[in-house]
Amino acid sequence: MASLTHVYMWSPIDHCWKPITAEEASKLFPTKVSANSALFMCSCCKQFVTLTNGKIQARAFKHSRGEADKSCPERQEGANYYYVYKASQYDLPLRIRNITSNDFSLELGLIRIPQDILDEQNNKKIIISTDSEQFIYSIERIRNDAVTYLPVGGNPSVEYRLNTTGKLMSFWPETSKGVSFYVGRTKRKRYDLY
Ligand SMILES: [Zn+2]
Repeated sequence: MASLTHVYMWSPIDHCWKPITAEEASKLFPTKVSANSALFMCSCCKQFVTLTNGKIQARAFKHSRGEADKSCPERQEGANYYYVYKASQYDLPLRIRNITSNDFSLELGLIRIPQDILDEQNNKKIIISTDSEQFIYSIERIRNDAVTYLPVGGNPSVEYRLNTTGKLMSFWPETSKGVSFYVGRTKRKRYDLY
């Protein structure tokens, strides 16, 4: 299956469009992303494009049949991208926030979940466990259009473990690499942060 090759994705973190391959996009989005989501744009013709669905099959960026401008040179041709998606194969983004001269806090980025799947998860929780702490959030915090950054304390953890409903765990890894520098030791704590 031929994929468009000049596709950009909107980065809500950097507030700009960034080039992305179908393979990279597929790691972020396990299921189809419609052109209507306005997440991916063909840089040749500046129209939004679809990331096709597929589990074993190759996934690709496609122009949709209904779009206004059909003159894009990339409509007919393009390189091939083949890949098989596994949520367990990627690590979640981790960012440092609230930096002061002697302190900081960390946030773990959870990949977007389609709204129809979020709607099925009434009153469910997400548990994020670190080496020493546990953070519990409501699934209502998860965004359907961008990465959701959830606070995971100020003690760096070698690993971040996720536990929630099986439906969501098909989008996220069970464990994600953290950071290994030593800051201090705390007793195991639990935070309920719905
Ligand atoms: Zn185009």
